Amino acid sequence: MEELKGKAILVTGASRGIGRAIALEVARRGANVAFNYVHSEAQARELVAEIEALGVKARSFKVDVSDLKAVREMVNSVRSEFGRLDGVVNNAGVTRDKLLAMMGEEEWNEVIRINLTGAFNVARAAIFPMMKAKSGVILNITSVSGLVGMAGQVNYSASKAGLIGMTKALAKEVGRSGVRVNALALGFIETDMTAKLPEQNRQQALSMIPLGRFGRPSEVAPVAAFLLSDAASYITGAVIQVDGGLAM
Ligand code: NAP
Repeated sequence: MEELKGKAILVTGASRGIGRAIALEVARRGANVAFNYVHSEAQARELVAEIEALGVKARSFKVDVSDLKAVREMVNSVRSEFGRLDGVVNNAGVTRDKLLAMMGEEEWNEVIRINLTGAFNVARAAIFPMMKAKSGVILNITSVSGLVGMAGQVNYSASKAGLIGMTKALAKEVGRSGVRVNALALGFIETDMTAKLPEQNRQQALSMIPLGRFGRPSEVAPVAAFLLSDAASYITGAVIQVDGGLAM
């Protein structure tokens, strides 16, 4: 379980949920971990302590992924403090669900700005150092909403489909530089994001999932850790579903 030993990995939006599970999983496998968040200071402090207790370095940043200047500064700090940057996980994301007929410009813009432009910002800040090092991994956390579309999530589905296009285009741009770019398309995972689903929608979702239940962040994190590791050295441009069979 030491396959990420000595590597430096940045996970966006790791104070809670899936990002938190990924940060802990890569730390368990030996990586030094940096992460960011926007609101949850207490949880971020706890996560730093939990990661350090695993015997690796941890660093948190209160940085909004949609702020390119702040993201650049964060990436530069990670590189200078950890001496390298081997992987970034574009995990930070939000939902602002509403039918398109009721959706305001701000709900559209906010979701695109955080979920899609945020991933661009982080990839943009990290890509030159990775290309120069002739190695690196970018992992984008997308959703089955981006594959099949979900009613009430036109903004979110567009942002997540955008991430899939970005994954494939960037994989083609940087493969010869030794940089891999992949995506995880997640189904319904038990986090704060899905806790706010109305009961009727939850039951409807459950009825569509062959495995008959929502997934757990701990069922996503090992797949992310694998894609970040050298064991996945011939995988790029892939969109791997972790969805209990929902979108097959
Ligand atoms: P979550 O529990 O709501 O956690 C979201 C995390 O993102 C928090 O750490 C939050 O920080 C951070 N964040 C939000 N806006 C940010 C911003 N502008 N800049 C930096 N960090 C920000 O969400 P989750 O369920 O773990 O989802 C994680 C990712 O998986 C998202 O991209 C989501 O779209 C995707 N996903 C989730 C599911 C699911 O069923 N849960 C399904 C498919 C895909 P604060 O704590 O500071 O707010």
